[in-house]
Amino acid sequence: MTRLPNPVPDDRPGLLNYRCNVCGHPCQTRVVMLNREAPSCFHCGSNVRMRSLVEALSIALFGQSIALPDFPHRPDLRGIGMSCWDGYAIPLAQKLGYTNTYYHQEPFFDIRHPPSEWLGQLDFVISSDVFEHIEPPVAIAFAQARQLLKPGGVMIFTVPYVAEVEQPGGRTIEHFPNLHDYRVESVGDRFVLHNTTRTGQVETFEDLVFHGGPGLNLEMRMFAETDLIALLNQAGFAVEICRNPNFNFGIYWPHHGSLPMVARAIEQPSDRVSRQPLKQFTQSPLGRQIKQGLRPWVPVPIRQSARHWLRQWRSRL
Ligand SMILES: [Zn+2]
Repeated sequence: MTRLPNPVPDDRPGLLNYRCNVCGHPCQTRVVMLNREAPSCFHCGSNVRMRSLVEALSIALFGQSIALPDFPHRPDLRGIGMSCWDGYAIPLAQKLGYTNTYYHQEPFFDIRHPPSEWLGQLDFVISSDVFEHIEPPVAIAFAQARQLLKPGGVMIFTVPYVAEVEQPGGRTIEHFPNLHDYRVESVGDRFVLHNTTRTGQVETFEDLVFHGGPGLNLEMRMFAETDLIALLNQAGFAVEICRNPNFNFGIYWPHHGSLPMVARAIEQPSDRVSRQPLKQFTQSPLGRQIKQGLRPWVPVPIRQSARHWLRQWRSRL
């Protein structure tokens, strides 16, 4: 992993010609105009976050950075998005076995309560700026995201976070750590959150931060890089931060924080336990042999070495 050098203030009009890897069109922009949120492709409106997500997904699935219009047709690669931007969600659904899901509309999906039939079935999950809005404790959502994926599957992930290099030793700030029974109320031109904690204590919060998108996207926390990576690791993910620029696709990060991450599902002992239904197993050749009380067939060399190992083990007793 390489870190970008500290950004040098530069307002010279350096022009960059690039191809937008979301829509495939040629673009031109000033490098200083490239940032996480501001649209910088005037064809589809993609920003650096969206182009970087597409690049991260492409590298994770295909081992190379391919523009979305050039993705192979692979409906066998199954994945979901969580309220993803239509600009890449619609073409992605035409290329891969991908479904965009929503918290506020159909097809509904709540990462804290994923449907059991999806567990261990997905090759990828895209979650862009969602986890900062999930009610605490957010660790449950990370664990469920891991459970959705096949071993080796990936979550392409973004949240706003403070980089370790920007704030050494910084910790995640939970705005409402004791959130339990709560409501958000509009009072004049502002919003107030009323909460009753599990122990019956009443709390009121007035400085609420909302993000764009459907519904009231209340910011529940500001992640710190170290805590965020620890949460992903605890859930069973290996994490890589997408720091590298790709000027060919107009991807450049002038700052250290809030970069996309590729979180790859590490194989866990529970993955080795067959998820296939018992009926399916008992109908398999091995299952049928066991059901009929027959000794499963084992190749002769393995049987011989097993006997040899047993003799040695007994002789040591
Ligand atoms: Zn574009």
